[in-house]
Amino acid sequence: MPRLRKNQLQPALQAIATENYVFQNWAKTFSCQCELLFTPSTEEEIIEIVRLAGEHKKSIKVFGSGHSPSDLAMTHDFLVNIDTMNKMLKVDTEKLTMTVQGGMSLHTFHKVLKDHGMALSNLGSISDQSVAGVTATASHGTGAHFGSLSSMILDLTLITANGDTLYCSPESHPDVFAAAKCSLGALGIITRITFQAEPMFRLEATQLPYKFPEVLEKWDEVIHSAEHVRVWWFPHTDDCVVWRANRTEKPVTVANPGWFLERGLGFHAYQAMLNTARYFPSIIPKITQFMYKTIHSREQHIIDDSHKVFNFDCLFPQYVNEWAIPWEDAPAALRQLDEFINKNDLKVHFPVEIRFVDEDDIWLSPAYGRKTCYIGVIMYRSVFCAQDM
Ligand SMILES: Cc1cc2nc3c(=O)[nH]c(=O)nc-3n(C[C@H](O)[C@H](O)[C@H](O)COP(=O)(O)OP(=O)(O)OC[C@H]3O[C@@H](n4cnc5c(N)ncnc54)[C@H](O)[C@@H]3O)c2cc1C
Repeated sequence: MPRLRKNQLQPALQAIATENYVFQNWAKTFSCQCELLFTPSTEEEIIEIVRLAGEHKKSIKVFGSGHSPSDLAMTHDFLVNIDTMNKMLKVDTEKLTMTVQGGMSLHTFHKVLKDHGMALSNLGSISDQSVAGVTATASHGTGAHFGSLSSMILDLTLITANGDTLYCSPESHPDVFAAAKCSLGALGIITRITFQAEPMFRLEATQLPYKFPEVLEKWDEVIHSAEHVRVWWFPHTDDCVVWRANRTEKPVTVANPGWFLERGLGFHAYQAMLNTARYFPSIIPKITQFMYKTIHSREQHIIDDSHKVFNFDCLFPQYVNEWAIPWEDAPAALRQLDEFINKNDLKVHFPVEIRFVDEDDIWLSPAYGRKTCYIGVIMYRSVFCAQDM
């Protein structure tokens, strides 16, 4: 199809269009140059964009904060971003529900929820994502009795490919609803979502060192040893850390390991070590052992507002690969992964992050109909070199 220029658009769309916009995901692992980027602030504008795309046979992709480690949101045709559609629309403090626009970031969502004495029951490692983006991929945290963020959706509204505004819920278009709660952006542009929340709460979290084989032996016990449990395994060692968090009424206690340990060693020195390891990968196991001994094997304890405890500093841009398998299969899979790394003399970064999510009924969710263990493998990207490692 011939290229569409901004000056060929009607004035209202010209005002929200940018030509040849280059979109890059957070980790800078994927990028695309789109023909036109649109930044609508109303559903009417979105409908106009969808109609325009239909007329000119262009595809549309929508992105939130670009945190997906994949190329899901890439296109050379039309890109749409609804960051300015970030308002709270409705709140019910009795039923603990809130409806917000799809472009609202989780950071803002936490603040708005807190203003009404509420919080989300579970969260992933960061809150930079948009509410539509984070649910489009069924992003998850951890907790044996807690589902993904998509499982907290009570209803949603999307603009479909033919420009219709479709409200869906368990009663209204239930099939579309079951698909749209984890749509990978493929069903339309989600503009409004109602979430189930709970009364705001504090979490008490502890981090303790363990031997990984022992944790694998007592798998079920570990999964149920707190409301929220995650395991960080340090490949090239038999060490791991188990993070546990429970709701508490106790006052805030913020851990303060000091600048040297947290930023000096935990960030800057580690980054320098990783950059060196780029040229000498054989030192990676030594780096892992050193970082485990000096920082990660230390017992840690913190009490704070839930979202602050759920979220972590994910350090540097990274390649991410995450597998979702049934809980009970995870110990065997992890033992095989360890064997595979050793047999093939691979040098991999830590941590391998292991989390647990309750089953749901969302069609594309990795936790559909089964209690799921997520095994997340990362390789940090070098800071000095933009090329693949
Ligand atoms: C440092 C880091 C930490 C992370 N931690 C976790 C974690 O703990 N748990 C976890 O599960 N994931 C995690 N992720 C992954 C992240 O939560 C997901 O990739 C999420 O989808 C990103 O949301 P986003 O707003 O950036 O969406 P984008 O990356 O911009 O888009 C992701 C998908 O959402 C779709 N989308 C965006 N907006 C809309 C909309 N309005 N309507 C319809 N579809 C839309 C896009 O088309 C695309 O398919 C992490 C990612 C990073 C970089």
